Amino acid sequence: MELTVLGCDGSWPGPGGTGSSYLLTSDGFHLVLDLGGGALGRLQEHIGIADIGAVCVSHAHHDHYADLFPLSIARYCGGLGAPGLQVLVPRGFFDRVSDALMPGTEEAWSSAFDMRTLSGGDEHAVGPFSIQTFNMAHANASLGFRVSADGSVLAYTGDSGPSGVVHDLAAGADIFLTEATHVDGGEKDFHLTARQAARYASEAGVGCLVLTHIEPGVDPAVSLVQAREVFDGPILVAHPGLRV
Ligand SMILES: [Zn+2]
Ligand SMILES: [Zn+2]
Repeated sequence: MELTVLGCDGSWPGPGGTGSSYLLTSDGFHLVLDLGGGALGRLQEHIGIADIGAVCVSHAHHDHYADLFPLSIARYCGGLGAPGLQVLVPRGFFDRVSDALMPGTEEAWSSAFDMRTLSGGDEHAVGPFSIQTFNMAHANASLGFRVSADGSVLAYTGDSGPSGVVHDLAAGADIFLTEATHVDGGEKDFHLTARQAARYASEAGVGCLVLTHIEPGVDPAVSLVQAREVFDGPILVAHPGLRV
C-alpha cells in the first residue's frame, strides 16, 4: 500500500496550500481519503480523475470534502470516469452539504456518485482495501478510517480530539496518519496537539507516525520536536507529494 499526500493543511489552507486529502494505492486501485479544497488539482499530478476507485470522507467540515463538488462536475460533464463512483460518507453528510447544490449540479452529483453511508464500527470492502470505521471525538458524525490492504494497515484519524478511540484506531498500525492541528498550549477537546498525537502513536505501537492537518501559522518544525519527545519511532510531517 502506498500513501501519497495530496493536501494536509489544518482547517484552512495556508499560502499555496490544500485541504486534507490522501491517495492510497494498492494493486493498481486508488482510494482517496478526504478531498478538501484544491485537492482535485493535486490529485491529477499523480493519477487521472477517471482513475479514482473510491472516495472516503471523514466528516462534513469543508476542509475535508469541498472538492467533491468539482469532482462531480468533472465526472458528469467532463466524462472523466464512469457514473456511480463509490463515495463513503458518515451518516447525515448529504443532508448537511446538499443545500450547496444548485439545480443542475444535483443531477451531476447523483449521477457521478454512489453515496454510501458508514457509521462507526462498520467494515467495508472496496477494491483491495478493507476499511474499518471509528467514531472520533470531533464534530457530529466524524469518522476515522483503519484501512488494510496487502498485509499493511494505515490508520487515519480524520479530525479528532483526545479519546481512547484514537488508541483503538491506531493499535499496531504500520502507518498512523494523524491530525496534529496544534502544538503545546493549544490543547482542545476536538483537535490534537503533536505531542498528544505522538503519545497515542507510542502507546498504540505504530510503525511510522505521519503528522498532518497542522494549522497554518503553526511551525511544523516545532510539531516535530514536540512529537519526538514522546515517540521514538520514525516521524514524518505531511506535505503535498509526500509518499510513504
Ligand atoms: Zn479539518
Ligand atoms: Zn473538522
